[in-house]
Amino acid sequence: MFYTLSDFDFNAKRVLVRVDFNVPQDSSGNITDDSRIRKALPTINLVLDKNPQQVIVCSHLGRPEGKINSKYSMKPIAQRFKELLGQEVYFESNPEIRKLQSLNNSKIIVLENLRFDPGEEAGDREFAEKLASFADLFVFDAFGVAHRAHASVTGVPKFLKSCAGQIMENEVKNLDLTNPEQPFIAIIGGAKADKIDVMRTLLAKVDKLILGGVLANTFLKARGTPIGASRYDEETLKFAKEIIEQAKNKIVFPLDALLGNNFSADADSKMVDIQNVENGWLILDIGPRTVELYKSLLQQAKTIFWAGPIGVFEFDRFANGTKEVALTLAECKARTIIGGGDSGAAIEKYNLGCRMTWISTGGGASLEYISGKQLPGIVALQDNYKTFKG
Ligand code: AMP
Repeated sequence: MFYTLSDFDFNAKRVLVRVDFNVPQDSSGNITDDSRIRKALPTINLVLDKNPQQVIVCSHLGRPEGKINSKYSMKPIAQRFKELLGQEVYFESNPEIRKLQSLNNSKIIVLENLRFDPGEEAGDREFAEKLASFADLFVFDAFGVAHRAHASVTGVPKFLKSCAGQIMENEVKNLDLTNPEQPFIAIIGGAKADKIDVMRTLLAKVDKLILGGVLANTFLKARGTPIGASRYDEETLKFAKEIIEQAKNKIVFPLDALLGNNFSADADSKMVDIQNVENGWLILDIGPRTVELYKSLLQQAKTIFWAGPIGVFEFDRFANGTKEVALTLAECKARTIIGGGDSGAAIEKYNLGCRMTWISTGGGASLEYISGKQLPGIVALQDNYKTFKG
């Protein structure tokens, strides 16, 4: 239980809002996808509708590692935010309480990158207290960092009455897979080894767990199927062997694969049965028989959770498996939950976002949440509720 926006009266108050404006930028600093800024607008508009004295918006951007670095400045982000919000926005590079309070005509202020201060990532109490001193109330709406014990995540709620924004509320509601309607199918792909815990948790609940990406390669290797020069994850190999023993009937392996002779967009390719992956070749996507198998299973599901692409979807030649899975989810009637990160990016690439039940705004955070871990950002809001409720 935590406070939400409707519990607070923001009238004439100074409100600190922690958002996730960590948008991707190209090498010249142009924003290549502003959806994170767009997603934060409903919460900010809800606060603004209640006539606050000042709304102070703060976020991190990239990994400046505690040092001021103009490459990671929030200034261009504040500019895009201003355009999208349609209201004047003041950018403050060096916030001090007196300075902010003197900005009486500036209703909306964006602070410089929180991670320019080493105190942010260190979860420093003094830095949190300084941020809290700018406001009367705190709104936390950065689900993407809710799994980090950073100053603006867990520190500020120690000093200010705090509530969850709309994104937080929706994430918690939509990622709840405690009692999923059956059949429940999970699709786990991608390359990072951060999916072991979520697989362990999900295996107890799913009817089938469909494999994709580097994870599928790792499971094939663990099963003893040759994978040529395909990428696999050493750390996950032992776990994969264990899972194959324990939950063989639930794991769905690829039947065929599209191979590349190197890791590039224009690699030579060939389609083979999964037993016939040759030395020197790399599995970069699933083949048509696997697409049909995965589709037929997914079409029967009532709940589907998907994290991690099925193949190297960034290369068009190897994007078919990921695209077909995305299309199947868009067309099916199941509740479809996407664990953010690259599977979310793939769905957006095919303009299918609006046809999913929920695409999480946090890759790592959504995996930790579904694994059943307590996210520090949520715990901080719950503790704050207990403290202020009295
Ligand atoms: P993750 O962040 O763990 O979800 O991993 C996403 C990345 O996995 C994407 O950049 C994909 O290109 C990559 N990926 C998916 N399948 C493969 C594969 N078979 N070989 C190498 N990389 C892959």
